[in-house]
Formats: sequence, structure tokens, C-alpha cells
Amino acid sequence: MDEAAEAVDPANRWKLSAACRPAVFDGNPEIFYPPRLRDTANGMSRARAELVRRAKNVCATCPVTRECLEYAMERHETEGIWGMTTPEERGMTQLR
Ligand code: SF4
Repeated sequence: MDEAAEAVDPANRWKLSAACRPAVFDGNPEIFYPPRLRDTANGMSRARAELVRRAKNVCATCPVTRECLEYAMERHETEGIWGMTTPEERGMTQLR
């Protein structure tokens, strides 16, 4: 285990293996936080759907999907893509 992993709270160590880390740290965190404000009355806007699709494609390669989803569910995350799910798919339909 590298120094970074040792320095992290054991409960959060899974984040070091997250497939989204490069995307988030390379300045593209918005694909994991597609704004709900663009949603239409009948569902996702095309722009939001494209961001969700891109985020889920990254999640599909992630070795810690289960840990990520558990983390989000425990914290009732109302925003963002976690463990290949949207807030709506996690049952978090509260709007900002
Ligand atoms: S499952 Fe998706 S959002 Fe969660 S750590 Fe992996 S890539 Fe990131």
C-alpha cells in the first residue's frame, strides 16, 4: 500500500481506487454532478442524460462500485453519480 493510502481514513481508502479520480482531478467533475436544473418536466434533459451516460461509463470500469454505492446510501447523497446510480435511482428525488 502506498503512502497516500496509509494517510487516508481506512473507511475512505476505497476512494484511492476510484476509476473517477482522474476525471475528477483532471477538471471534469461535472460529469459526476450533472445539474438537475436542466431537467425537463418529463425527465432528464438531453445534456444531463449525456453527462450521466459518460459518468456511468467510467463507473462501469471501477473496482469499487459497491463501496461507492454503500457510501452514498449511508450518507443519503442527494447529488451526483455514485456507484453507477443517479440520485433518482438511489431514491433521492429531493431537488436543490
Ligand atoms: S463507482 Fe463511479 S462514482 Fe463511484 S468511485 Fe467508481 S467511478 Fe467513481
